[in-house]
Amino acid sequence: MKNKPSIKWVVDNGLCLGCGVCEDACPSHAIRFVEKHALNVPQVDPVSCINDKGCNLCSRVCPGHGVDFQAKSRQYFGTAPSVDPYIGPYVSCYTGWSNEHEIRYHSASGGLLSHFLIYLLDKKIIDGAVVTRFSESNPLRTQSFIATTRDDILAAKSSKYCPVSLNGMVREVMSFPGKVLIVGLPCHIAGMRKTEALNKKFREKVVGYFAIYCSSNRNFNGLDFLLKKRNVDPKDVKSFSFRDDGCLGSMKIITEDRAISEPFVQYYGKLRSYFKPRRCSFCIDHYGMLADVSFGDIHLAPYFNEIGVNSLVVRNPLFDKYLQQAQTDEYILLQNIPSADVNRSQKMMLKNRNITVPFSLKFERLIGRKVPKYDMPISKVQWLKGARYWFSYTLQGLIGRWFY
Ligand SMILES: Cc1cc2nc3c(=O)[nH]c(=O)nc-3n(C[C@H](O)[C@H](O)[C@H](O)COP(=O)(O)OP(=O)(O)OC[C@H]3O[C@@H](n4cnc5c(N)ncnc54)[C@H](O)[C@@H]3O)c2cc1C
Ligand code: SF4
Ligand code: SF4
Ligand code: SF4
Repeated sequence: MKNKPSIKWVVDNGLCLGCGVCEDACPSHAIRFVEKHALNVPQVDPVSCINDKGCNLCSRVCPGHGVDFQAKSRQYFGTAPSVDPYIGPYVSCYTGWSNEHEIRYHSASGGLLSHFLIYLLDKKIIDGAVVTRFSESNPLRTQSFIATTRDDILAAKSSKYCPVSLNGMVREVMSFPGKVLIVGLPCHIAGMRKTEALNKKFREKVVGYFAIYCSSNRNFNGLDFLLKKRNVDPKDVKSFSFRDDGCLGSMKIITEDRAISEPFVQYYGKLRSYFKPRRCSFCIDHYGMLADVSFGDIHLAPYFNEIGVNSLVVRNPLFDKYLQQAQTDEYILLQNIPSADVNRSQKMMLKNRNITVPFSLKFERLIGRKVPKYDMPISKVQWLKGARYWFSYTLQGLIGRWFY
């Protein structure tokens, strides 16, 4: 190849995660995002693109083709006292929740992430946070923005099991008058970390990164499927939430004349892998190894709780100090737990990491497909089990595509 590859190579080889960071890295404004195959996908304008002059900035910030997790986590958190093969280097692990019932009950898990952001804003440790809400103009599409108030933070609470792209956010952060914290999925944080390595101005504006654990995402067809099964016309939806009312909680759909509420366990499992983006099958970063703090659920006795509860992993000692202060100031509650308990509560993620991902990486490379590259040891391939899972999710993916 004469030119160094641009992100067109990533997209053409099915390795795009839709994170969005390439758009802001492009000096020629040649990238724009479109919805294609129910995903947010970058398109490169060949006329404006200066790849032939040696530019490949979009590819250098792109986490789709691979990430040096080991090198980067050592660079950021190398002095952390403990290391876990899945979590990476870390300072402490906790379980806990927001002390405000309304936040705890209506957030995805225990509302810790949102309430800790509110604490950081109140104490002027940050001036804004990049978060993601369902759009006011289209409640079935997401919109990321810089939240500067408690109301903004709470408008973005809860999980979005559909594509979220942070395109535009790097430029917004750079022109924002103050310090910003960025919240995203592990793949968003990886893209942002690659961006800050090349962009000093951006790096200086960012106070920290919060990740939410992630076992996989869903494309927009997943949303359509949920609505269709309940005879809801997407045009009628006034508001939508995947997780409200308690831990794990319920999906809530509000239309002009109906209000649907359905427990997470009842609708989520049925989504299976029908709408899973291909790139998630190769993901090894379920905890967000490059984030200062990562937040998730904890599906494990004695920690699980109906109102709402989180587990969290802290990698940066400064944020450990802020969390302790937030507890002293009675915003949140924290309790130390062993990392082994965090891992035990994430069975699905670890099954992916130990069985599905190693098989997918090896097998798809063997049949000539492009796969991402990592600098970390990957578990030994379990050929029989791996093949069974691979076949099952590939079939489900085909069924998902066939129906939509
Ligand atoms: C696709 C996906 C898969 C997940 N998989 C797991 C899992 O396997 N195991 C587990 O324990 N937890 C998982 N989580 C995380 C979990 O659902 C909660 O988000 C997390 O526990 C934080 O809860 P909270 O109550 O503290 O957050 P809240 O206070 O509700 O705040 C959540 C924050 O995350 C942001 N956010 C939500 N969805 C997205 C998104 N798609 N992209 C970027 N930002 C987003 C919101 O803007 C908000 O700021 C997943 C979340 C998502 C979106
Ligand atoms: S190669 Fe350079 S100019 Fe072309 S899309 Fe990528 S960043 Fe933009
Ligand atoms: S930077 Fe993100 S959105 Fe752009 S090509 Fe890479 S993975 Fe896709
Ligand atoms: S599984 Fe990995 S690649 Fe897929 S959405 Fe989650 S963090 Fe991103």
